[in-house]
Amino acid sequence: MHSQVIAKQELAAFVENLLRQGEVVGVRRKDGKYVFDKIGSPGELCLDYDVTVLSPKEYFLPQREAFLKFELAEAIKAEPITQAQRRIILGVHPYDIKAIQLMDAVFSKDNPDPNYFRKREAATIIGVDCLNPSPHAFCASVGTATAESGFDLLLTDIGAEYVVAIGSAKGEELLQKHAKTRDASDGDLSKGKTARDEAARKYQLSAPVSLDQIPRLLEENYDHPLWEELAQKCLSCGSCTMVCPTCVCFDVQEDVALTLTTGERYRQWDSCLLEDFAKVATGENFRQHRSTRLRHRYFRKGKYMMERFGIQGCVGCGRCITACLAEIASPVDTYSRLKGGS
Ligand code: SF4
Ligand code: SF4
Repeated sequence: MHSQVIAKQELAAFVENLLRQGEVVGVRRKDGKYVFDKIGSPGELCLDYDVTVLSPKEYFLPQREAFLKFELAEAIKAEPITQAQRRIILGVHPYDIKAIQLMDAVFSKDNPDPNYFRKREAATIIGVDCLNPSPHAFCASVGTATAESGFDLLLTDIGAEYVVAIGSAKGEELLQKHAKTRDASDGDLSKGKTARDEAARKYQLSAPVSLDQIPRLLEENYDHPLWEELAQKCLSCGSCTMVCPTCVCFDVQEDVALTLTTGERYRQWDSCLLEDFAKVATGENFRQHRSTRLRHRYFRKGKYMMERFGIQGCVGCGRCITACLAEIASPVDTYSRLKGGS
């Protein structure tokens, strides 16, 4: 992969130029936390953050998205809505890049999702290596602390400069047109590797089993009493799934105008931890008990996604650990308990 180097003082000019091209979403500080949001100037951008509250998932799968509008006049008319805004998303960490790759697999299988892919194609992803991991993250142990693909450009902080890995022709063109860079030397690349290696040693949490062992661990513990124990504390709030970059389930609803002549069909994020998630029209609920919903989340992440898409369903960002008020959503703790047999 070809790499360039950009000086830190040149980055602001690069971002200014990007802002002239259209919408730029970046990571900014908000109420002591970090969020992805539209930025208006390079000064708002923060590239040395640990983790954002939500991942950039919402720019590809919005929390609520209308995808069909209809008229209920004498002849019923329906028209799809596929909207996509050209935007640059700047500062995406490797674990979120891997989560987007998983979403690509999910939304392309069987019935490719046009709403997702129009947004995906309209987006340019500029990643940044995470050198200050969150205390709840365990990316280094699940292979998501670094990314080799899935981005247009990827920055690595090497002190006074960034190494910029070029991941696509789109990224290369952006850099050529809008940034002042130089070719990366072997020494620059080696500094980048050192920075990533040092960051890998900063992770405070680590998965207790390797990824390929997780499906078996879960299968063998399908009836483990731990699920019931955790369920006693679970609030069924769904926060662990709302913050998760790899949770992609949505519910479909319709809004009809008071005149009963027009309406729209929309989808919105849903959560398998919520009681109604598996309820069907005739009233039966296939996961009525909290313990079955809680267990399903782990099976979905650790086994089903791997089996269906060949990609792990958890990228180790640790957002669920931070979000869970009952302190029971940690994949690290749960797998440790299952492994330990307690
Ligand atoms: S399950 Fe938790 S740690 Fe894993 S990707 Fe989702 S939010 Fe991150
Ligand atoms: S595991 Fe935690 S965050 Fe998830 S639904 Fe239960 S209480 Fe809420």
